[in-house]
Amino acid sequence: MAKYTINESLLQVNPYTRTGIKLKKVMGIVIHWTANKGKGASDTAHYRYYSGGAISAKSYASAHYFCDGDSILRVIPDNEMAYHVGARSYRTNRLGSYPNNMTIGVETCVNVDGNFKQALDRSAWLVAKLLKDNKLGIDDLYRHYDITGKDCPRYFVYDATAREYGLGDSAAKAWSAFKAQVVAYMGEGTKLSTKPPIAKPAGSTYKDKEVAPTLVKVIYKGRDGVAVRKTADFSAPVHSYVKYGDAFTIVKKVKTKQGEYMWRLKSGLFITAHEKYVKTIGGK
Ligand SMILES: [Zn+2]
Repeated sequence: MAKYTINESLLQVNPYTRTGIKLKKVMGIVIHWTANKGKGASDTAHYRYYSGGAISAKSYASAHYFCDGDSILRVIPDNEMAYHVGARSYRTNRLGSYPNNMTIGVETCVNVDGNFKQALDRSAWLVAKLLKDNKLGIDDLYRHYDITGKDCPRYFVYDATAREYGLGDSAAKAWSAFKAQVVAYMGEGTKLSTKPPIAKPAGSTYKDKEVAPTLVKVIYKGRDGVAVRKTADFSAPVHSYVKYGDAFTIVKKVKTKQGEYMWRLKSGLFITAHEKYVKTIGGK
């Protein structure tokens, strides 16, 4: 029998904390901390925040799971995208150009009135389950830090915070110990490391501010779809047609010679910026 159970209270679909956009594929699991030591900042408190305050604040942020000292809560289905690991640039290219599209986010709660060691153990158990469910290995587990450089979870990045949380003198060792616990939960036959470590960045690229929209989503429902063109020109050759619900990473808005705007996509192609056809979503 499973050691823990997973409770579920799904957020209502909304543009900020649960877009309903499907993940392209699950290529990794990302571990976070809530960074909220406040009393009562439990899994359900975060559910309430992401179903209320975060939406009114137009905060593009969320995660799939929250683990606290006595329970695990899923708030976004595993096959949908959450805004948990967005940034202007990324430290790894293993997760494509937009890691939110490819990853499941797990938050460990650090509320002072909760049992942190229990919350961390639940997180390790859950990560192991998610890795196995998605046929991934331990090298597909990332700290938020590994992807964007953000100090998250801080006790796996800074030694002083590792000490503060009773995880020993070294954040690196605390992170290794957590991974070892995940491997133990995954069961025998799991190897600890097969891929090279992620290179250190020259400097942190994370900007702890809301980032401009990073995705454009097709909202036009017509069967003909919306044209994606090779250059920023509405008369340029069509590369392909995209359909309602499709979403793409955007780089910038460009003015066409027709005087209307198009989004330049990460792929180098262009799509109309007209609100009748597309809307932007973006985030943290
Ligand atoms: Zn994080």
